[in-house]
Amino acid sequence: MARRIEQEDLTASLAEALQFISHQHPPDFVRALRRAHAAEIHAPTKAAMEQLLINSRLAALGRRPICQDTGVVQVFLRIGVGVQFSRRDGATPLGLQQVIDEAVRRAYTDPVNPLRASMIRDPLGMRANTRDNTPAIVFSEIVDGDELEVTVAAKGGGGDVKARFATLNPSDSVLDWVLAQLPGMGAGWCPPGVVGIGIGGSPEQAMLLAKRSLFDPIDIDRLRSAGPANAEQALRLELHSRINDLGIGAQGLGGLSTVLDVKVATAPCHAATIPVALVPNCAATRYLRFVLDGSGPASFEPTPLSEWDGIADRFDTADATHVDLDKLESAEVATWRTGQTLLLSGRVLTARDAAHKRLVDLLDRKQPLPVDLRGRAIYYVGPVDAVAGEAVGPAGPTTATRMDKFVERLLGETGLLAMIGKAERGPAAIQSIRRHRAAYLVAVGGAAYLLSKAIRRARVLAFEELGMEAIHEFELADFPVTVAVDSRGTSIHRITAKPPASIGG
Ligand code: SF4
Repeated sequence: MARRIEQEDLTASLAEALQFISHQHPPDFVRALRRAHAAEIHAPTKAAMEQLLINSRLAALGRRPICQDTGVVQVFLRIGVGVQFSRRDGATPLGLQQVIDEAVRRAYTDPVNPLRASMIRDPLGMRANTRDNTPAIVFSEIVDGDELEVTVAAKGGGGDVKARFATLNPSDSVLDWVLAQLPGMGAGWCPPGVVGIGIGGSPEQAMLLAKRSLFDPIDIDRLRSAGPANAEQALRLELHSRINDLGIGAQGLGGLSTVLDVKVATAPCHAATIPVALVPNCAATRYLRFVLDGSGPASFEPTPLSEWDGIADRFDTADATHVDLDKLESAEVATWRTGQTLLLSGRVLTARDAAHKRLVDLLDRKQPLPVDLRGRAIYYVGPVDAVAGEAVGPAGPTTATRMDKFVERLLGETGLLAMIGKAERGPAAIQSIRRHRAAYLVAVGGAAYLLSKAIRRARVLAFEELGMEAIHEFELADFPVTVAVDSRGTSIHRITAKPPASIGG
């Protein structure tokens, strides 16, 4: 006898799950981040992890997104052979893509907690945003049983884009291959996070193995205590130690913890090959698994607030330098040193990819810019829409590397003094910063809600039609940043961005 599952229950459960994961870190992630923070001795990295923890708590309390990049929706269905889909209204059941897209639409346009829509319909055309974050990316398999198991994830641009794949020879070392990938991934995936490794199968199966392996709780400490029982577990332990020994660290700032765990999943494969895939989960790890058995929609238990016991409400640091952006001058920028913590107050401009392109196009045509950049700082950000009581929604930094190609023009021709983003800069951008005695500052990727609380006012100054990519002016109050490239061209990142430029955020 088939088990009837109403499609309305799938839509309602998924919409609720997407809202839930936008502001709820899984408890195992919070615990692992706390352990890494407690063990860290490198000051800028420890401060970054402290901000991630404060942000995690505030997002859960405020039910607002952990990160401004609220992600692309990925849904993995395991459909029992005994499941029969029906509709409560008696209509003919819809295709599952339609059912799931309705949930995404509902979740991302929820007026109480609107999420940022990041999906574009036509990657090679106008790249128009679908505005409701549809379509979801859906995978399904038919399995034994009469239940529907759903795993849903919201993956930001900085996570999946760092995925790697190779087909190795049987005599090659998977360990060496993985270790060789990490430096090239840069910090755009906002470590610390979890790395999933898929080994075997076909190329697409290896990628899926890596992705799915990330949906198991963080348990590397337990495994280390128990000891490995097979080759997969031995590889996990070895990779966890060796990746952290690379010293990339949280946000790429150096230190002990680049990965909180490493997952390994394997499948049989052709005797002549080892397909191997790597997929990271970032600091905004967001996923949830639930089961529908025909008894109604799923409900979700929030992470107990006790998981954040002792975590502060705000980031405070006694040894930070206060900077008034309204009085910023080149001479002050020249005193900043790499690794220094600054608390920025005053007015900052925002611009990311599309606005940068337009500014440089105007420079090319020798036309006036819509904003005067002389003596100003630009923050690379695309915020979530505000709700009542907010100046702006969660507003963390996006990956600076994508703006590298515009740096020389803006620093050389506009009088711009500083840029704020996340992750490393490439050699040419660092040269430009040194040449023009400017600076590059990093805010913590994945601490978007905490950072938005240091933004007191926001208004659009130019390119309003670009939506979240418009040029805004934010008024900041003690907005925390670290000097990542100072005016002498000294970079805090051990890793240097290489083309193709990393993306995300
Ligand atoms: S900005 Fe960083 S933390 Fe946020 S989704 Fe992207 S990679 Fe994750």
